[in-house]
Amino acid sequence: MSSSTYSQFVNHVRDIHRAQAIESVLEWDQETCMPRRGAAERAEQLALIAGIVHDRRTSDEFGGMIQRLAGSDAAGQDHVAATNIREMKRQYERAVRIPRQLVQELARTVALAKGAWVEAKRDSDFAKFAPHVERLLDLKRQVADLVGWGEERYDALMDEYEPGATSAAIQRVFDQLRAELVPFIQSLGRAPRQPDRSLLARHCPQAAQAELSRRFAAAIGFNFDAGRIDVSAHPFCSGTSPHDVRLTTRYREDYFPSALFGTLHEAGHGMYEQGLDPAHVGTPMGWAVSLGIHESQSLMWENMVGRSRPFWEHFYPDLQTAFPAMKDVPLDAFYFAVNAVTPSFIRVEADEATYNLHIVLRFGLERQMIAGTLAVRDIPDAWNAGMRDLLGVTPTSDAVGCLQDIHWSQGTFGYFPTYALGKLYAAQFFAAARRAMPDLDGTFRRGDFGPLLDWLRSNIHRHGQRYRAHELVKVVTGAELSHRPFMDYLAGKFRPLYGI
Ligand code: ZN
Repeated sequence: MSSSTYSQFVNHVRDIHRAQAIESVLEWDQETCMPRRGAAERAEQLALIAGIVHDRRTSDEFGGMIQRLAGSDAAGQDHVAATNIREMKRQYERAVRIPRQLVQELARTVALAKGAWVEAKRDSDFAKFAPHVERLLDLKRQVADLVGWGEERYDALMDEYEPGATSAAIQRVFDQLRAELVPFIQSLGRAPRQPDRSLLARHCPQAAQAELSRRFAAAIGFNFDAGRIDVSAHPFCSGTSPHDVRLTTRYREDYFPSALFGTLHEAGHGMYEQGLDPAHVGTPMGWAVSLGIHESQSLMWENMVGRSRPFWEHFYPDLQTAFPAMKDVPLDAFYFAVNAVTPSFIRVEADEATYNLHIVLRFGLERQMIAGTLAVRDIPDAWNAGMRDLLGVTPTSDAVGCLQDIHWSQGTFGYFPTYALGKLYAAQFFAAARRAMPDLDGTFRRGDFGPLLDWLRSNIHRHGQRYRAHELVKVVTGAELSHRPFMDYLAGKFRPLYGI
């Protein structure tokens, strides 16, 4: 390999990343501080940057570099170059196979579909949205066929979010999960002990919530010299490098867990970004593996740490000081309330036990929709039947049923499974961390989260995209992805709580 070709290639990749970083700061600004009247010009700015990113990613010059490098022995020499070339080749090939015309057609269709979805949801009328779903499915099938697929078309769409994942492998794990999780949740519902969730609706002032959220984020290891927290309607984490990570949260004075756990969740994403190797910034070796692995980091900090009893043994006195309304609530009642398991209609409000069943439903429907074996008009019935089978509840309207999520209006078929994979990865990683550090609970009880964060940094964050998600799971835990660690984690936490 000519080393000048490789350094040219790295410079080009870093420039693409920098253009995307500009895009992400503009988007962050739009969600957090931009005045309303800035929207029209901001859309033009974002479209301009998106065009620049697309042109750089698909230029003939870049294609030539990739071809020269992929054909050289660069890949064999060291894993850094091999990873960077492999990943940029994958992205380049995907991008050039989809003609500009189809990309624009998709963007237009999505813009219309979003408006139709908002209206259909407001009126709880799926028929208004159905033609848009039909059109989006058609375009996404074209995308899948252009980029190519092996066993199943849906895999080509998932590849955008969870590279290397296959429907067949995910279905196997989901089937095993479902077989155990459905009866487990039913048994919690029948348990003699039940939590009092009304405790969490006590009034807690926003300023105190903001102070506490910030303190928790710093305590678990989010570095405020390399990041910040602001407020937005929908919480998210974005950033431009390990040294500049932006989190957002939102406050509800009548439901403080929304801010507290939301901040721990986004801080978990943020700490992954801050833990990526700065030496590889802007290249695949300095990027997160996949959406599923990203979600594993946020969920571990939110649920396995933030909803654990040792965490609250340390922090509950601070919470009671910050929120005088909670003064008379004992730790055990609080701990039970934040871990309540209740089958419900809405995915984003679901607890950590029932959540994955919402995803099992969507994954099954999406596969059939892309394969064409489920007609769009039959989606509402299929949705409601699935909710009955999986969670024992029947949505009272399409607004709280098949119209609840924004994803289909954005054409992001194949995205949902990453949420459930995140939960399964998180449990499997956490079990491995416990084996490596048997006194993890003791460290949490002392308010010391450094050992877990260091373990995540060296076992996961520092690898960038060296491994695909399924490979990383094997490297870190010594086993293939399985539902078992997640079910063991749920049983270990909820059986004692519910007294079963
Ligand atoms: Zn997340």
